[in-house]
Amino acid sequence: MTIPAHESALADTLRPDLASWVESANHADTDFPIQNLPLGCFRDARQHTRPGVAIGDQILDLVELDRTGWLFAQPFSDTIARCAADGSLNALLAQGRDVLSAIRHGVSRLLRADGDHGARSRELRDRLLVPMADVEMLVPARIGDYTDFYASIHHASNVGSMFRPDNALLPNYKWVPIGYHGRASSIVPSGAAVRRPSGQTRDDASAPPQFGPTRRLDYELEVGVFIGAGNALGASIPIGQAESHVAGLCLVNDWSARDVQAWEYQPLGPFLAKNFATTVSPWIVSLDALAPFRAPAFARAEGDPAPLPYLHDERDARAGGVDITLEVLIQSLRMRREGVAPMRVSRGSFTAMYWTVAQLVTHHASNGANLQPGDLLASGTVSGAEKESRGCLLERTWRGTEPLTLPTGETRRFLEDGDEVIMRGWCEREGARRIGFGECRGTVIA
Ligand code: CA
Repeated sequence: MTIPAHESALADTLRPDLASWVESANHADTDFPIQNLPLGCFRDARQHTRPGVAIGDQILDLVELDRTGWLFAQPFSDTIARCAADGSLNALLAQGRDVLSAIRHGVSRLLRADGDHGARSRELRDRLLVPMADVEMLVPARIGDYTDFYASIHHASNVGSMFRPDNALLPNYKWVPIGYHGRASSIVPSGAAVRRPSGQTRDDASAPPQFGPTRRLDYELEVGVFIGAGNALGASIPIGQAESHVAGLCLVNDWSARDVQAWEYQPLGPFLAKNFATTVSPWIVSLDALAPFRAPAFARAEGDPAPLPYLHDERDARAGGVDITLEVLIQSLRMRREGVAPMRVSRGSFTAMYWTVAQLVTHHASNGANLQPGDLLASGTVSGAEKESRGCLLERTWRGTEPLTLPTGETRRFLEDGDEVIMRGWCEREGARRIGFGECRGTVIA
């Protein structure tokens, strides 16, 4: 069998024995070995915004790389310049998956320890590399539209059983990838503080609602999907092509005020309980880098309906899942002051999702709605079947009835001021190099 050129090029970038001349990229526990090469956007010490590629604890500055003339020719130089001027990757993402794959392959060749390219790059390391510790990471794209899905059936069933005990999973769930339009303007980068929102709540059905700071602030662990090439208004995206519209994945914290949500969510769904802040991790990990970690789509229970034809694709059923291990840690203010390490609250896998990334993309565009470069789709809370894999406190503490105890003896039903929520994601498998997503962090302030 002849392997198509792009597949052999991809396989070349994923070889587990591939090493980089950037030493930190060769450490066993780095999230960013040469097999990953995610895209991000940063602001350096001179306040310049730049597109870049993560490699070990460094960033390859794509503007400087462009100036060497090694990788980019017109019109890509213009694209890189637009990203730098804009402080976002949109112009690059708009080039589509094949161009992003070609850039990743070119960068891989420049960064590998063997070969001429490596020798030339090594000479220019001071010019090309910026230490991650010296820059501020930005939200990687100017997000025009943000949609949040609800793709974990475990999460939907758990939350449903709390909010509607007699009607937990609504009848549309197994047919329609449920989602709602979120707010793009309040999406913040990892590390940004999140202010506790105020809102209307009604704890006592016999008394009027009250307005004040939420007392049930929560996080939601999610995976984000950045759109690369979009679709024209009125055109849809066939499921077999959906992944060609995906630039890559990131981690998302969909901060949620549960008491506000419970009072406002019917009949039109989440509104102010969700749109006050959403945190994203800074690196867009490509589906190319994730290729070794693909998994079958969710195994539907016997008796569940098959997806409608527009949401079904053989290849997607076989390998539409992505085996990303995801975890959430919490560090309270007191833990931080006493030097106590963050405590892990949950660990699960993205394979627990009922709908695949391709199904979310295809469904979103199925009515002719136009997805655009830099749009963000979030998966919905990633919760699995086990208690330890539940991706928000609402489920983890079962609406506060089973509080968590922190190492300091403090307990948590929901988040307190000063708590930092840290999300991590990584992929590992026999025969492949481990890759990671970096962190998605946020601290609650009063
Ligand atoms: Ca959510």
